[in-house]
Amino acid sequence: MRKMLLLLTMAGLVLFSFQSLFAADYPAKVITIIVPFTAGGPTDTVARLMAVPMSKALNTQVIVENVDGAGGTVGANRAAKSAPDGYTIFLHHIGMATAPALYRKLPYNPITDFEPIGLINEVPMTFVAKKDFPAKNLKELITYVKANKAKVNLANAGLGAASHLCGTLFMTAIETDLTTIPYKGTGPAMNDLLGGQVDFMCDQTTNTTSQIKAGKIKVYGVTTKKRVPSLPDVPTMDEAGLKGFEVAIWHAFYAPKGTPKPIIDKLTKTVQVALKDNMVKQRFGDLGTEPVSEDRATPEALRKHLKAETDKWGPILKKAGVYAD
Ligand code: ASP
Repeated sequence: MRKMLLLLTMAGLVLFSFQSLFAADYPAKVITIIVPFTAGGPTDTVARLMAVPMSKALNTQVIVENVDGAGGTVGANRAAKSAPDGYTIFLHHIGMATAPALYRKLPYNPITDFEPIGLINEVPMTFVAKKDFPAKNLKELITYVKANKAKVNLANAGLGAASHLCGTLFMTAIETDLTTIPYKGTGPAMNDLLGGQVDFMCDQTTNTTSQIKAGKIKVYGVTTKKRVPSLPDVPTMDEAGLKGFEVAIWHAFYAPKGTPKPIIDKLTKTVQVALKDNMVKQRFGDLGTEPVSEDRATPEALRKHLKAETDKWGPILKKAGVYAD
């Protein structure tokens, strides 16, 4: 028994020093951030903004790879199965917490297949429509879609996307099912909204603020409890008439399970540095999103948050009855 304990301790020590040695040289090459949606969308925007100060802090190139499809689950699966060496990391949003309730056969486990690195930001969503959509405010929008449900369509970025979650909550709240048009990200969905090929969607301020300010789309409400400083004239959904309607999106970084702890620690520190970068703070502010405080940009805070959000949304989505096989 003693011998066994001694052997186990020695094996632990060897592993620990191997990991530390490995981490001392880290990073020695390019780091790839997998983003599970198309380029030009809200999640991609967060990743590309964060990659700039992260590259600087790590003294290596940090690049973004868009692995889109199936509401973020294709990219998440690729990230879960990547080498746990710190050279592939993953940025995803609330979809990490909602996918288990939406997909009967999810090929990865968001909690056990990843090492959390840290939370990044919180983002409000906005209800937006093509410029010539007839409704002037949220109450009119609800009346209009109820009366014209056969011809109104709602864009989203697939089952598991934030836009899907928000759209589902909206349809449940107004007790009306609409035709939904899934894209591989709300970047291309926004192009179709601007072109008038789809009617409306709920999307993150990171993707909608500049189009709203330029008057290229209509906005009906923000989905957070408080108004957004960068869009001060836009009412909350609650103020606009949909009492209690609230959804806030969050993004976070993960690494594949088994990535050595010293590397995770280095990445966490890098994320904390990047969140204090002036360009990031400025751009996040312009786009209506806020970086989290340093104590939330940690593996422990992310682990807790992911569990709490999974517990919160699971029953709500099961009740809404949306599934993929
Ligand atoms: N985050 C997605 C994207 O970047 C959109 C969504 O989840 O609704 O396109």
